Amino acid sequence: MIVIKDNIAQVELQISSACQQAQRAANEVTLLAVSKTKPAEMILQAYDAGQRHFGESYVQEAVDKITRLQDKTDITWHFIGPIQANKTKLIAQHFSWVHSIDRAKVAKRLNAHRLAQDTPLNICLQVNISGEESKAGVSPTELPALLAEIADCQQLTIRGLMAIPEKNAPQASFMQMQALFTTLKKQYPSMDTLSMGMSADMQLAINAGATIVRIGSAIFGARR
Ligand SMILES: *Cc1c(COP(=O)(O)O)cnc(C)c1O
Repeated sequence: MIVIKDNIAQVELQISSACQQAQRAANEVTLLAVSKTKPAEMILQAYDAGQRHFGESYVQEAVDKITRLQDKTDITWHFIGPIQANKTKLIAQHFSWVHSIDRAKVAKRLNAHRLAQDTPLNICLQVNISGEESKAGVSPTELPALLAEIADCQQLTIRGLMAIPEKNAPQASFMQMQALFTTLKKQYPSMDTLSMGMSADMQLAINAGATIVRIGSAIFGARR
């Protein structure tokens, strides 16, 4: 049986030991529990263990769970999956954060669908740091132009960068993300977030300055 509470405690311990090795304070890194494909009951168990940030990748599945858990008003929902343009309204309505923006069209549609009375949507731009053909994300060279194109979107707050480095990526890939982040945040002072690190590469990510790690299977068990 999976004991979610114990798994979260274990992951928190890994985060704090990685922070210690990197000479960073443990509270600089936020644990985002990736609950995609997992039922609302499991999210509730994590919630009862104190977890408040959850990441989802599939819009309809996520909206169903968010609706079921709507009385937990202190949950922060993050969208981290591929974005189809026709799903931007649902995403803008139900999420506080979107990590996976890699084109201006999607950013502008999210901006248009985010109501003025709501707080702006927090966004990260996804960077294809390993240069994988088939992977989502903007290339590092196209990143400045994309930022410039969406900088005047009033209903978006540009919080930073997100990456999914390839399997067994070297520390250098994570460091490259850190360098991009450090450079760009001089120009965009709202940037304070570097979203990288998953169950298998959390340590490298934290070494390279990650401020959000996105952990799924180490908390909720393997996905089918
Ligand atoms: C599924 C997913 C994760 C979590 O991956 P694990 O290996 O289960 O920790 C993190 N980030 C993104 C973008 C994902 O889609």
